[in-house]
Amino acid sequence: MDTFSPAEATAAPPLRERSEIPDRFKWDLSHIFPDWEAWQRAYDELDRKISEGAAFQGTLAQGADRLLAVYQLRDEVGQLAHKVWYYTSLAYDQDQRDNLLNARRQQVQILFAKDAQAFSWFDPELLKIPLTTVQQWMTLQPELRVYRFAIEDLYRRQEHVLDDKGEHLLSLSTRFSSTPRDAYAALSTADVKYPTIQLSNGADVTVTYGQYRAILATNRDQRDRAAAFHAIHGLYAANVNTYAALYSAVLQGDWFHSQARGFASSLDAALHGNNIPTAVVENLIETTRTNVEPLRRYHRLRKKVLGLETYHTYDTTIPLVHVDRRYPYNDVLEWLPASVAPLGQEYQRQLRDALTSGWIDVYENSGKRSGAYSAPVYGVHPYMLLNYNDTLDDVFTLAHEAGHSMHTVLSHAHQPFVYSGYEIFVAEVPSTLSEALFLDYMLGRTTDERERSVLLQHAIDGIVATFYTQVMFADYELQAHRLVEQGKPVTAEALGDIYFGLLKAYHGDAYDYDELSRVTWARIPHFYSTPYYVYQYATCFASSAQVMKQLGGGEAERREAVDRYLTLLKSGGSDHPMTLLQKAGIDLSKPETVRAVVDQLDALVTRLEKEIS
Ligand SMILES: [Zn+2]
Repeated sequence: MDTFSPAEATAAPPLRERSEIPDRFKWDLSHIFPDWEAWQRAYDELDRKISEGAAFQGTLAQGADRLLAVYQLRDEVGQLAHKVWYYTSLAYDQDQRDNLLNARRQQVQILFAKDAQAFSWFDPELLKIPLTTVQQWMTLQPELRVYRFAIEDLYRRQEHVLDDKGEHLLSLSTRFSSTPRDAYAALSTADVKYPTIQLSNGADVTVTYGQYRAILATNRDQRDRAAAFHAIHGLYAANVNTYAALYSAVLQGDWFHSQARGFASSLDAALHGNNIPTAVVENLIETTRTNVEPLRRYHRLRKKVLGLETYHTYDTTIPLVHVDRRYPYNDVLEWLPASVAPLGQEYQRQLRDALTSGWIDVYENSGKRSGAYSAPVYGVHPYMLLNYNDTLDDVFTLAHEAGHSMHTVLSHAHQPFVYSGYEIFVAEVPSTLSEALFLDYMLGRTTDERERSVLLQHAIDGIVATFYTQVMFADYELQAHRLVEQGKPVTAEALGDIYFGLLKAYHGDAYDYDELSRVTWARIPHFYSTPYYVYQYATCFASSAQVMKQLGGGEAERREAVDRYLTLLKSGGSDHPMTLLQKAGIDLSKPETVRAVVDQLDALVTRLEKEIS
């Protein structure tokens, strides 16, 4: 979130050069290659191995040994590609002004394109061999069995692939099917004329998206927040029929592709890749909708504490309590391993190693990439990029990325390369669990009641934004897609009715409603760019809440829960996400899993009510 505030901003301190930062706060890329010469040798080897791919074309039908040889070559290419790619891309992210590094990065990308081409024959050629034949080969060739899940999943996904003629026809549509998304981007960003408003202190402000969010998050005058809301939403209201036409084209496109491939609905098509049952999304929505009371209680509490006569969507992000506390990095290095004690000593030891072995690039410097991530370098270890600035958000970001990194450590240690990566449907479970454990630890540690309120609010806002809002968005997408699937007209009014109806269904009497909120749907980029995607953040949140709940049980129950959870992390991508989660004791098709988040929110709001009173 952009925290720049027009009214309250102070000048940012000048950025340090990278050379001014002590080495112990930088990652050590020599763990990947000792120098650029070694990188170049690996690059050349990768190039050679990719070229070997073509020699296998047309030979798969000869039997198990040929198939095995290709899979093993793919593994060698993949492992080498990890190191060759990350060595350049991590170095580039240290200082993105470096043209030489940028050129090397692009050099690797060109090699990746060559790789895709060199092996493009593989899937179609394998799929011409009946699955029963390949299964027969696996009984004869034990080494091929490692690839069983990958092979069988390829055949499963093939069920909705058309014949050559059909695929060719569909491929012709890709040229124009991205047009509504491009037009949305142009209308909402490139061609937009941002309005200017006058704040209550007399300052004129141009309300860009960044400013809009900043005003809502920092400006304590409700009139200013209302003015910013009306300015931004007025932009969408002015073009709402155009937005509706563009979104209609997105929906029609999704439905066209779903029908062409023989899916019963757009949702079925979207979930097929990861083999997720539609019941998961339906259960997520149903259970959340019937459990909105803690959400409403939180907003009623906010209205009271903020002393507002009326409470609007633009009053939902201003902090209730403000504490200007700094969190020095060295302190957090002690706290973070302590916070994961419930996961056992071995996990704690591994995390401590991860934090102190040159895996993390801690501070900002001139030219460094913004944000934070964990990069899984197979055969080496994960690397974490931070822009640590001693704030509470930075601390939770570190906890989050450390969760991803521990997932990588365990998955890489226990899986063959082919299954070492994991899907997003599972990926955000360890990161959010890591944050939840850290919150628990910090709440237990602090003796300052204002800090406790800030921590509680941080956790609650996380659940509201990552869970409730994302479920409401999934609910919206489902209803909008159904309009098209049922042959109903998609108009600005119909879309506005759905969105406004949902806002009321989730927030009830806790909000005072503005007519302009009818157009909010038009403002959400992912409705256009990645339909049916962000619900996965909500299911991950529910999954980690369920694990938290199990960790809070008796000693024997806790031990079992830890075992199951670590098994999940060690399983990487060796099966479909639902199956992996079920083995960890998490069943997303059951209401109680979703209710675990609701219970978590309920408990947090109750604590915050007590702290604040
Ligand atoms: Zn994440």
